[in-house]
Amino acid sequence: MNKPLTIVGGGLAGLALGIGLRRQEVPVTIYEAAHYPRHRVCGEFVSGRGQQFLERLGVSSLLAAAGAVPARTVAFYSPRRSSPVGSLPSPALCLSRWQMDAQLAARFRELGGDLQEDRRVDPATTSEGWVRANGRRPAGEGPGPRWFGLKIHARNVPLVADLEMHVSPRGYVGLCRVEQGEVNVCGLFRRDSLDASPTTAGRQLLMGPPDSILRQRLAGAEFDESSFCAVAGLALAPVPAASRAEVCVGDAITMIPPVTGNGMSMAFESAEQAVDPLVAWSQGRQTWAATRREIAQGCDGQFARRLFWARQLQRVILHAPLQDALVGMVGWQSWLWRLAFAGTR
Ligand SMILES: Cc1cc2nc3c(=O)[nH]c(=O)nc-3n(C[C@H](O)[C@H](O)[C@H](O)COP(=O)(O)OP(=O)(O)OC[C@H]3O[C@@H](n4cnc5c(N)ncnc54)[C@H](O)[C@@H]3O)c2cc1C
Repeated sequence: MNKPLTIVGGGLAGLALGIGLRRQEVPVTIYEAAHYPRHRVCGEFVSGRGQQFLERLGVSSLLAAAGAVPARTVAFYSPRRSSPVGSLPSPALCLSRWQMDAQLAARFRELGGDLQEDRRVDPATTSEGWVRANGRRPAGEGPGPRWFGLKIHARNVPLVADLEMHVSPRGYVGLCRVEQGEVNVCGLFRRDSLDASPTTAGRQLLMGPPDSILRQRLAGAEFDESSFCAVAGLALAPVPAASRAEVCVGDAITMIPPVTGNGMSMAFESAEQAVDPLVAWSQGRQTWAATRREIAQGCDGQFARRLFWARQLQRVILHAPLQDALVGMVGWQSWLWRLAFAGTR
């Protein structure tokens, strides 16, 4: 008889882990503080090895049926300079979190998982059989500057590449097509960029500086106000999984700078790292301490290098005096950003 597992948080990491465990007949309960579907602040651009885990979980076809859009090309912009359109070293997948989380939740339930919505539980529970998948840690933990994220969906945005990345001295905004002809407009900004109320000032930040290419791109946009959301107090200093007292997956371990478009992949990859050790614990073949150690070592081995490079990348692209030159360089030194892409995957 398999011992049951409890997962705190039904975001991407928690749901992917729950599906992986249910496929091996492990009894799983997920407590989710919110409900489905709902909008989340996210670039909605899945890039990296986590896509293969979705394939192995058998959910890629569900996401495709929900309208996931492949992304193959990319272009970079500073307020006044643009790079040529290039191809992504490997294709990405774009789907709203509204759809993605809801599809995974439905699949988890189909497999017999117990998903309790609108149930916030104490994430600090460290007892055996509890996994922490409750996303980013509260602000105040760790060194480094604080960030906030904003997102809104829009129609009538004429993109020239599947992913457009617009950098400015205050942060960056990514644009990509998601399902049903909508474009996701999502940005990350330094906390000190917000000098008025988050809703009005936030919208101005998402639109880009006056006269910028981003502002021109969004000039005729019809925004879906119901999709607007914000998240504050993001800390992006990397933390090793081995330093966490609990079994953690996804952002509950640490957050990678969103500029990489790799956070969701890391959520899926960490879930994959956790499945076999948790099955072994559930079947009584391994202690909880050994299970926690194995998962943490697996995640640190897989993520340490990309967390390092992601941090350097974010520092460089947010260094205002370099932004025009960097965007210009992408055109004639495409190997440079391909190297950055590879380093953060
Ligand atoms: C501005 C921005 C842009 C981004 N863009 C991208 C991108 O383009 N590509 C990419 O791959 N990644 C991106 N990311 C990162 C990505 O969103 C995260 O890495 C990913 O959502 C992590 O998944 P998760 O399941 O760990 O956490 P989440 O998706 O945050 O899920 C955690 C869940 O836990 C629930 N929860 C929290 N506390 C409790 C509790 N006490 N009890 C019960 N439930 C609880 C929450 O409601 C939530 O549903 C971006 C992030 C930001 C901030």
